[in-house]
Amino acid sequence: MSQLQTVFELHKQRAIQLRASSATLRIDKLKVLKNWLLNHRIELQQALHNDFKKPAAETDLTEYYLVKAEIDHTIKYLRRWMRPKRVKTPLTLFGSRSSVILEPKGVCLIIGPWNYPFSLMISPLVSAIAAGNTVFLKPSEITAHTSALMAQMVEDIFEKEEVFLLEGGLEVSTELLALPFDHIFFTGSPKVGKIVMQAASKHLTSVTLELGGKSPNIIDETAHLKDAAEKVVFNKFLNGGQTCIAPDYILVHQAVHDEFVAVLKEQIKYVYDENLDDMAGIVNSGHFHHLKFLLKDALEHNAKIECGGELNEGQLRISPTLLTGVDEKMKLLEEEIFGPILPVLPFQNLDEAINRINAGHKPLALYIFSGNSQSIERVLKETSAGGVCVNDGNIHFSNNYLPFGGVNNSGIGKSHGFYGFRAFSNEKAILRQRVGLTSLKILYPPYTKKVKKYVDLLLKWL
Ligand code: NAD
Repeated sequence: MSQLQTVFELHKQRAIQLRASSATLRIDKLKVLKNWLLNHRIELQQALHNDFKKPAAETDLTEYYLVKAEIDHTIKYLRRWMRPKRVKTPLTLFGSRSSVILEPKGVCLIIGPWNYPFSLMISPLVSAIAAGNTVFLKPSEITAHTSALMAQMVEDIFEKEEVFLLEGGLEVSTELLALPFDHIFFTGSPKVGKIVMQAASKHLTSVTLELGGKSPNIIDETAHLKDAAEKVVFNKFLNGGQTCIAPDYILVHQAVHDEFVAVLKEQIKYVYDENLDDMAGIVNSGHFHHLKFLLKDALEHNAKIECGGELNEGQLRISPTLLTGVDEKMKLLEEEIFGPILPVLPFQNLDEAINRINAGHKPLALYIFSGNSQSIERVLKETSAGGVCVNDGNIHFSNNYLPFGGVNNSGIGKSHGFYGFRAFSNEKAILRQRVGLTSLKILYPPYTKKVKKYVDLLLKWL
């Protein structure tokens, strides 16, 4: 038996012990995790800076704070979530009582991406622990400093029979995916998501897939342009544009196209001209070259750089770049950009913008900036997306009362708060009947004339 299989067997045994674990026990583990976090803020900032020059303030907001908020929210509500929920019982089952309890799934696997390497591993871990599971963690090999810090954390605060972290890339992932986990929670690209789902199907393991794609950002002719520009620039260039829910491209009404481009340029200049270090770098040279290729391809097809476009390979930096004159021939309108390049496209009327969005995959996030409530309602009703922000972007992610996740190509299943707890739980249906009592006995065979009459009455009246 390999070492991995040995640990897996230990987890299976522990998972059975944890099945009836109390809220108090689970909360105690979350408190230990929180305590570690509070004592390692600086180490976290350093790891993320070493990995891709992420500014400390962004690490505080999107790695440290988001995990702390997930822990606090979970501790606050866990007892309530764990309580059996009474549900109604139909008249046909008169005399019995029904309820639903959320029991732990068992041994779970969490595979994470590199772009928010800490929070996208540890927030699902919070949900998995809260739901009473044991967990295998496989962080991204690309952000090695953060992976090493998490490996140390897991070793310091968890027993290996309960939380086990494996560093490494494709081989480690493939070996893990061959095991019969009770649930797999994967965050990453749609391409690898399909590989994960295929591997899970061999054991009929349930999956949560948090994937990516192109998240559109509509600006209509009634939007407050300055407010929209401030928010778009923050949401797009946060983490160097390497955010799954970043606005991928802008659809702006042609009546305000030129004015909005001018305001956006002004805002980018104000925020980043003197402070390029306030934007994270590109994660590695492979990704840098891919973004360079997307930009080159767009320029060869006559896109216009409105601002930015400076590439520094030694520093792995691309300045915040705004493109106009983009069209369908360009690769950057086909695939998720995942970097600090923002194409702006005009539309003539809302139908055109909606049709364009509906022609592609259902996005992970969709943003609409508008002062017109009818236009907002139309976009909400006539498009499909994992989540929507009206007159803002990204921030729905930080509300733990909302489910987070995609639809089809952008994801399957939801995370955060109760929805994360539920992802790692089996909703067990319980019906309690009284001994000797069931209204259904009158319907039992043999199917005499009398029984058939009861069946007829049932169909007629109930
Ligand atoms: P990725 O899919 O390349 O890698 C994710 C994880 O899968 C890594 O741990 C990696 O080691 C592993 N992996 C890679 N190839 C594998 C294979 N063939 N078999 C098994 N495992 C494999 O994604 P990434 O580049 O790390 O992250 C970027 C993508 O993630 C983007 O598409 C982004 O939109 C998406 N994302 C989604 C969310 C979300 O919450 N929905 C959040 C962050 C990122």
